[in-house]
Amino acid sequence: MSQFADVVNKLIPNLSEFAGNDLPVHTPIDGSLLTTLRCHTSIEIDALIAQSQTAFKAWRLIPAPRRGELVRQLGNKLRERKEDLAQLVTLECGKIIEEGRGEVQEMIDICDFAVGLSRQLYGLTIQSERANHTMQENWHPLGPVGIISAFNFPVAVWSWNAALAFVCGDSTIWKPSEKTPLTGIAVQNILNEVLADFPDAPAGLSQLIIGRAAEGNQMVEDTRVPLISATGSTRMGRIVGPKVAARFGKSLLELGGNNAIIVTPSADLDVALPSILFGSVGTAGQRCTSTRRVFVHQSRFDQLFETLKSAYLQIGASKIGNPLEASTLVGPLIDEEAFTCMQNAIEAIRPHATEVVGGERVLSETGGYYAHPALVKINHHHEAIHHETFAPLTYVMPYSSLEEVLEVHNSVPQGLSSAIMTTDLREAEYFKQNSDCGIANVNIGTSGAEIGGAFGGEKETGGGRESGSDSWRAYMRRQTSTTYHGTQKPALAQGITFDV
Ligand code: NAD
Repeated sequence: MSQFADVVNKLIPNLSEFAGNDLPVHTPIDGSLLTTLRCHTSIEIDALIAQSQTAFKAWRLIPAPRRGELVRQLGNKLRERKEDLAQLVTLECGKIIEEGRGEVQEMIDICDFAVGLSRQLYGLTIQSERANHTMQENWHPLGPVGIISAFNFPVAVWSWNAALAFVCGDSTIWKPSEKTPLTGIAVQNILNEVLADFPDAPAGLSQLIIGRAAEGNQMVEDTRVPLISATGSTRMGRIVGPKVAARFGKSLLELGGNNAIIVTPSADLDVALPSILFGSVGTAGQRCTSTRRVFVHQSRFDQLFETLKSAYLQIGASKIGNPLEASTLVGPLIDEEAFTCMQNAIEAIRPHATEVVGGERVLSETGGYYAHPALVKINHHHEAIHHETFAPLTYVMPYSSLEEVLEVHNSVPQGLSSAIMTTDLREAEYFKQNSDCGIANVNIGTSGAEIGGAFGGEKETGGGRESGSDSWRAYMRRQTSTTYHGTQKPALAQGITFDV
């Protein structure tokens, strides 16, 4: 693939340093082998963690606004490299180039956010019950942050974590997905360019581990890494969460979703339709926030399903293809396994469905796994749709009352993103109060979030919050401090007397 050589020259001229026989890296665009990498050994990972600890001890002493300056420069470097990095994201994970650019923009946005934060990281003053006592709540740097990321956001997830961790005074160790290690190397190179001219930053501030689950697991089990921020499947979180808890570490889990849009009788369909379409077929259904379920009020069900169906057929006719081409809206699935999962899910629901549109493999001559997005019409919320299928597969079903549909909406094990399409203020507020998800949007789809809000979800989605709002607190440790500045014998709390 000619674009690959070009983008590697620009972003990873040192690729040979990572060469080996352990990890083949394919592009989902045509399935071809891009390169084969070496995984880090256990001894090397041990040394990387030790270096990260040493780097942390130096970095925590640098004033936070100065740490923010590093992140400001990283944001600027990403602006310079945006187009090249977006190309590599598209080549390696297959999302369309427009979304590749959006992913890099998200990195830039979180850098900007973190720079401002570096002059905040506010604590509290608390009123003491005792005279001449002052109480404070202070936030201190935490330590090396272990970042495990998924293939579908190969670079943004690192930046959500790293930009905050750096301003908070932490070092980072990143294990990108084994399906997208090249974007990881490229990002580390971009950061290295900034670090080269930033003498305040200690060596080893940002470490990269190339490997699979086993290499990530070494970090998960290491007590020198106080926070593991892990993004990926619920299956992964079920393993990682208890392991980190068993050593009394902190984990920030960002796991699978099963996101739904509710279309009410008052919905404006000009607003609802683009949101359903982007959420369902955008990123080829490979976002944690992709729309998996659409509940449509029975009064509008037939009309909406037919409109969606014709949009799906139109997409199938001309909008699936090479994600590097500007006219493409749906790129490939990451690999054959993802396509097989999609087929299995379609076959599981088919006996219960009244209609299935799409779902078949297309463009097989390319060697990539391209799927016609699938739209499934069903009458009832079936058990088979309680699972997340990481592909463009959307179930559409009717409902009759908002109270009842929210019960059904919340009955799945995941709790990431949800949306309602309504022009009725009361319905909107009822929905926000009753959706059990971390994200509840009104007249905005489930997919895609701005970095300013805290991002994450409940239940099997893991409960973690990343990115905006006060998510930075996960990267610091909280300390309550009481100071006595009187001259008499200090008083005890709760009025306890202890006279010797
Ligand atoms: P995955 O769980 O297969 O892998 C994710 C990462 O975890 C990879 O780096 C992998 O090597 C690592 N990993 C897997 N098992 C591990 C273990 N036992 N110990 C340590 N590391 C381990 O997920 P994926 O297929 O790359 O990504 C898709 C999934 O990620 C979907 O379920 C999607 O919903 C989820 N996701 C969630 C969010 C979110 O913010 N909630 C964001 C993106 C993706």
